[in-house]
Amino acid sequence: MHAFTCPLCGQIAYVESLSCPFCGGEIGIHPASHTMLPVSSAGAAFASAHWVPCSNRDWRCNWLVDRSAEDSRCLSCRITRRRPDADDTIAREKVADVDVDKRRLLLRLADLGLPVVPWYEQEGGLGFDLLSSRSGQGPVTIGHADGIITIDVAETLDDHRERLRVSLGEPYRTMLGHLRHEVGHYYQWVLVEEPAAADRPGAQARLEECRALFGDERASYTDAIARHYRTGAPRGWQRRYLSEYATMHPWEDFAETWAHYLHLTDTLTTLASAGVDLDHEKFPGILHRDIVPRLDYHGVPTAELLEDWYWCSKLLNRANRAMGKGDLYPFTITPAVGDKIDFVHRLVQQVAADSGRSAEVR
Ligand SMILES: [Zn+2]
Ligand SMILES: [Zn+2]
Repeated sequence: MHAFTCPLCGQIAYVESLSCPFCGGEIGIHPASHTMLPVSSAGAAFASAHWVPCSNRDWRCNWLVDRSAEDSRCLSCRITRRRPDADDTIAREKVADVDVDKRRLLLRLADLGLPVVPWYEQEGGLGFDLLSSRSGQGPVTIGHADGIITIDVAETLDDHRERLRVSLGEPYRTMLGHLRHEVGHYYQWVLVEEPAAADRPGAQARLEECRALFGDERASYTDAIARHYRTGAPRGWQRRYLSEYATMHPWEDFAETWAHYLHLTDTLTTLASAGVDLDHEKFPGILHRDIVPRLDYHGVPTAELLEDWYWCSKLLNRANRAMGKGDLYPFTITPAVGDKIDFVHRLVQQVAADSGRSAEVR
């Protein structure tokens, strides 16, 4: 994530901040330009409009909306299709927690130049059903179908999520990770499968390359789930997959790879905007060049992205261990996994180029 600065004092502010941690002034994010503006009832004048807080600011949304817009909610709030009933305030609090990560996700997608067409503009557009398995309306299964991502907001509860993580033997389980994974399903569908089904130029070759790397997505998903929970991941899965879950079905492999692409690029951007620079002279015989993370990896070969990430993730893992915590990035990117990340990197760049890199959060 790019660093956001407070418009009142110039200090760095967190992307989810409602007020500046330094000067205390009220701030909000202008989503289209990824800048922070001061918040006032009159609205902040910027880009020939007046920007006022999203009407969900009481629910900790810090995005701004054009004062003259019909809807008083920001894009992130509008793109949520279903949420628990208003009187279920406990579940609504959890929705607000998910929304923090959802806004981070949407900013990242825009940074990468990926198109976001909301569900209310187009059949099959991207939307979110943020429901609670604790609301007495039955179980909620996290997943994606026809553009709609369903999230169990109960997973924002640390004890609940950790219990699941441990019982499933996962090294990493976060709400942001869920969102990045599920949106991977959405993008495989709209960027790889649909264009091939519509016979767009070049789309068939892209689909075939995708199948060669991740497997044939037409394999029965029901059979795959049954097999996975009966026999687990195949022996030696670490050579070809990021996680055991990725071995279940080609769709899951793609979504896991996609999620990691967002993990890598978002974290490297964060380091870049903090000015991190690993000087190779301080690591003789280890580093052969300075490792300088970039704000943006468009046009940069995948090998360089992966090398930057290798050294930076090692640094971040040591920093986490210094705090008595587990590795920040408890995964290994093997050459076979690197090939899959390369596919995603090229796909994202091509889509961004096709859309003129103008994908904006409105
Ligand atoms: Zn400030
Ligand atoms: Zn909002």
